[in-house]
Amino acid sequence: MSSDVHEVFAVRYAHHDRHASENFLFGDPHDIIQPLAYFVWVITGPSGTFLVDTGFDLAMAEKRGRTIVRPVADSLKALGIAPDSVEDVIVTHLHYDHCGNHEVFPRARYHLQDEEMAYATGRCMCHPLVRIPFEADDVVAMVRKVFAGRVEFHDGESQIAPGITVHKVGGHSKGLQCVRVKTKRGHVVLASDASHLYSHFEEGRVFPVTYNVGDVLEGYRTIKRLADSMQHIVPGHDPSVAERYPAARAGLDGMIVRLDVAPVPR
Ligand SMILES: [Zn+2]
Ligand SMILES: [Zn+2]
Repeated sequence: MSSDVHEVFAVRYAHHDRHASENFLFGDPHDIIQPLAYFVWVITGPSGTFLVDTGFDLAMAEKRGRTIVRPVADSLKALGIAPDSVEDVIVTHLHYDHCGNHEVFPRARYHLQDEEMAYATGRCMCHPLVRIPFEADDVVAMVRKVFAGRVEFHDGESQIAPGITVHKVGGHSKGLQCVRVKTKRGHVVLASDASHLYSHFEEGRVFPVTYNVGDVLEGYRTIKRLADSMQHIVPGHDPSVAERYPAARAGLDGMIVRLDVAPVPR
């Protein structure tokens, strides 16, 4: 394997049934249930193991009315990864579903955009509407990691390791970043919440939780530019990701899938 080619996995850890209208700014004419899936992502390769986002735990699932389908730590173990061995965590943004499980990765260094930390600790959080997707405990835990010397800040585009780069997108959260990974099928983009569902970036629609609509729409251009094709973009919350890609191992169907092999065409 060349020194910058990686394997990538999507790990589905939680689920939430909701109406389609909740997933789109200005609603949706279809009165159907359109669930969200919750994922973290794992990148493995010559530079080691990189976890993208940390998910939330059972207590947060209960507080927010979500259902854990398998705790993040259990799925990592199923991939042969001991959580306390993880050395690098890329945090796409500080929403509660992306940065919980604070104590599960005691050795990890956290990669975060400058602007996301400024946003989550600044004057915007005075507004109840803006802080809905944030949890004070999550933000405080990240501040503590700053003071423990465990956060590496990035500003815009940055290389985490050969073949792995982060790119600030903003829009949905002010300092949101996506992750581009070189794989054997080309450059895959883990969009995270730069596009919750396939329909967001494919149809130019916008998720209602949004700091800046214009930046969300520009973000779709960014992820399309960074990915080798539309088939190389992995949205952050689309349940069909777990169905379109093959299982990482026998018995993990629909739970942990490989993103470094081509998806089944839709
Ligand atoms: Zn988010
Ligand atoms: Zn999210």
